[in-house]
Amino acid sequence: MHDTPDIREESQTAALLHDLLRMRGGRCKECAALLCAHETLMSLVAGCKDSPRCLSCLARLMGGGREQVRDHLLGYIMGRACRRDAWSWANREEATEPAALPLCLWPSPEGIAKESQPEQKMNALSDEPAPDSVPDAEWDAGNMGCGELVMGLRMRLQTMKAGQILKLTATDGGMPEDLPAWCRLTGHKLVLSKHPEYWIQRREN
Ligand SMILES: [Zn+2]
Ligand SMILES: [Zn+2]
Repeated sequence: MHDTPDIREESQTAALLHDLLRMRGGRCKECAALLCAHETLMSLVAGCKDSPRCLSCLARLMGGGREQVRDHLLGYIMGRACRRDAWSWANREEATEPAALPLCLWPSPEGIAKESQPEQKMNALSDEPAPDSVPDAEWDAGNMGCGELVMGLRMRLQTMKAGQILKLTATDGGMPEDLPAWCRLTGHKLVLSKHPEYWIQRREN
């Protein structure tokens, strides 16, 4: 039995909001700065639920510039209804107009970053066939949804060596769009994407 997409999307919104509320008022795991609601959400979608970080520390962790990572994270959040809802919640929480960029992370008004610079560092989705090698690790995530999955993915990739490949099986209907976006965001390389099977190569360092 599968939930209809709408119900599933709603329950994912609820799960995200639940985590956000629970994490409200937390501090950055690295520099102990107080986190705003937007940074908390960004940490969540990047898979750092248990170790949320401020944007600067998150950017360092992901190996990008602060603004680059910020804009990528925003794009990723806007890519799915459940995350957009959570973003709206964060805006309300900080008295930001629904369509405005929050001043906490965008100190000067500049409008939504024009679909940012060419993605040099962040890897693009490739249609290459699977490498001849076998994956170094496998994970069947079933129909786990957005929040949980990226968290598990992040932890698994962390334990692997640079260049190693994780074979992920994930049946959630949002994966074909979500996973390439998440890989671009985090710098891991999606070497094969054939729903529900995904081969992800761990990034350097
Ligand atoms: Zn920090
Ligand atoms: Zn904020």
